Amino acid sequence: MELLDGKVTANAVLEELTEAVNQMKAEGKRAPHLAAILVGNDGASLTYVGGKVKACERVGFESSLIRMPEETTEEELLSKVAELNADDSIDGFIVQLPLPKHINEDKVVQAVAPEKDVDGFHPVNVGRMALGLPSFLSATPYGIVQLLERYKIPTEGKHCVIIGRSNIVGSPMSILMRRNAHPGNCTVTVTHSRTKDLAAFTRDADILIVALGRPEFVTADMVKEGAVVIDVGITRVEDTSRPKGYRVTGDVKFDEVAPKSSFITPVPGGVGRMTIASLMMNTLMAARKEIYP
Ligand code: NAD
Repeated sequence: MELLDGKVTANAVLEELTEAVNQMKAEGKRAPHLAAILVGNDGASLTYVGGKVKACERVGFESSLIRMPEETTEEELLSKVAELNADDSIDGFIVQLPLPKHINEDKVVQAVAPEKDVDGFHPVNVGRMALGLPSFLSATPYGIVQLLERYKIPTEGKHCVIIGRSNIVGSPMSILMRRNAHPGNCTVTVTHSRTKDLAAFTRDADILIVALGRPEFVTADMVKEGAVVIDVGITRVEDTSRPKGYRVTGDVKFDEVAPKSSFITPVPGGVGRMTIASLMMNTLMAARKEIYP
């Protein structure tokens, strides 16, 4: 068994980005600029956005954190989005999800200009990805693709089974893994909450990507010997022995699945690290106008 180490790989990506920013500055260009809108005070969202701002500092990007109160109306948020769309000093921006219940998330996601949509959530980017056209790939699937690529995991002709069909992980992942590209060229099965006899599918997986948000859901008996296992799950589980009172747990029962797998991502230190690194890569591409020249 070998660890797919998100920490080491993300560090390597961030080093490469730092070099790219230095190069841009040496050419007299300004550094890429990422903005993030955070509505409300959700603890997990604050942590995620904080991590993104820190990553910007580390690679030499400019960053702007725009905090708006919980009571912000949909109209006010849409007007802020329009402002950032029109601001030439900002290369890309994200609206941290989830939004408060009174705001329609779809409406907000669709208001972001596709060429600044570094989260890759806009239907134009999702559609372009599905057609194999240049697009911003959403950060978590892009991070997984990067891990597979950098660890030179063979994917062609493999059976990739995905648990979960969300718009931000499972569905885009299925498109990327069946692309005529590397990583890709898999035969893909997407499973979800209505799948019957889930284990019959997972046991046939050469590559198993798990994104359902149920701690330690995948057990050793559900995994084929030698499988590549990617654990996307992040759930805070109460743990009074930890200083914060919780620990972060993946969707895979790591201790029993790891010995059976050829490669596996740990949680934490796996996919989560790659997600932020991928957002940074998208921002660099936005600044260089590589996707939308
Ligand atoms: P979601 O809640 O939107 O979707 C969950 C999916 O799991 C659904 O498609 C559902 O059909 C499926 N599912 C639920 N129960 C199931 C069952 N018993 N059998 C088979 N499928 C089942 O989730 P999401 O937004 O894709 O997130 C999934 C997990 O990944 C969460 O723990 C989330 O925190 C984590 N996540 C991590 C990152 C990261 O950077 N590492 C990014 C996004 C999400």
